Amino acid sequence: MKISRRNLLKISGVSVLALAMVPRMALAARNSLRSIRTGVQPGGKTRLVIETTIRPTYSLSYPDGQLVVHLPNTSGNASPKLASGTLVKSLGVSPGAQSLDVIVNLNKSIAPIQKSQIMILEPNGDSEYRLVLDFAAGAGTVAANNIATAVSAPAPTKKYTIVIDAGHGGKDPGCIGKGGTKEKTVVLAVAKKLKAKLDAAGFKTYLTRSDDTYLKLAERASIAEKRKGDLFISLHANANPSRSMKGFSIYTLSEKASDEEAKKLAEAENAADKIDVSGFSDFSKDIRIALSALQQHAVAEMSEEYAVGCSKTFRSAGIEAQPGAKVRHAPFAVLRSTVPGALVELGHLSNAAEEKLLKSDSHQNKLVTAIVKSIKNYNFDV
Ligand SMILES: [Zn+2]
Repeated sequence: MKISRRNLLKISGVSVLALAMVPRMALAARNSLRSIRTGVQPGGKTRLVIETTIRPTYSLSYPDGQLVVHLPNTSGNASPKLASGTLVKSLGVSPGAQSLDVIVNLNKSIAPIQKSQIMILEPNGDSEYRLVLDFAAGAGTVAANNIATAVSAPAPTKKYTIVIDAGHGGKDPGCIGKGGTKEKTVVLAVAKKLKAKLDAAGFKTYLTRSDDTYLKLAERASIAEKRKGDLFISLHANANPSRSMKGFSIYTLSEKASDEEAKKLAEAENAADKIDVSGFSDFSKDIRIALSALQQHAVAEMSEEYAVGCSKTFRSAGIEAQPGAKVRHAPFAVLRSTVPGALVELGHLSNAAEEKLLKSDSHQNKLVTAIVKSIKNYNFDV
């Protein structure tokens, strides 16, 4: 049986909830390789099992005579246990800076492995997470050489739903730059551009607000759920007492803020609804149904993966990053839902140069292009 995290989220129809008990420590941990083994399956198939301590994400490629399983955010080593009579000649592990490649040298070439032949098994008994791949010799199929199966690319048949939240609005202007630029105006402009570009790229998109209206934070979160969002992105711009502070930053939900600054920011962003950061548990009294710990964990993990990828994409697009952690965590009310997502502070309106940039069409387009790229790279299905 294959249960993806996304399917896990669909198990019960729930409305807005508090992700109060998300185990952050588990999320911060990198994945680590525990074991690799091969086996023979009926029908002349070879089974490759890669065991890791947390749920793996992966992509596959097929260089000449090889199958390469790329595991991002993974470290470790394991001596492979090889069964006889398989298509696997030898196996090796090649560590990268932030990732691990399992390199499988094959006796015969294989066709790209169908998704139906790939499973991720939940921890069970002595076993941890297992990525299981079944494959056969590629008789009469396309040459398997150099065909990269980008598992992270959205399948053309399934339209993923992205809910875009322009922060603030109406009576709540958000922060205001020295030149008078309002956060609510900048983020709405970016949200509209993002919607247009995502629509063009084949995504299904919804805006929480498309004009200058005020929406409560919980309403925004519940729109994400009603629209059955696969991903929720809340757009904001920042202000800092230090006028020299600049750069973007990306946040995911957690009960505790990752640092003092993240805590202050969550207080500021939650202020529109007068939600006290320390009042997180009060908020949850209104929540009728709590997700299982497993589901909460899945949402948090998926959010974290998106946020890490988004941060990376912004940096490689040359968008100035605020110094500090790549992804921070804080109790943002708007992120309390069953939809994985992140809050993106696009830059600092309190910095004169960045205020100018954030108003400009060209910089807004640059931000939008980076967000679209981060969404295309996001692995929706694992
Ligand atoms: Zn804001």
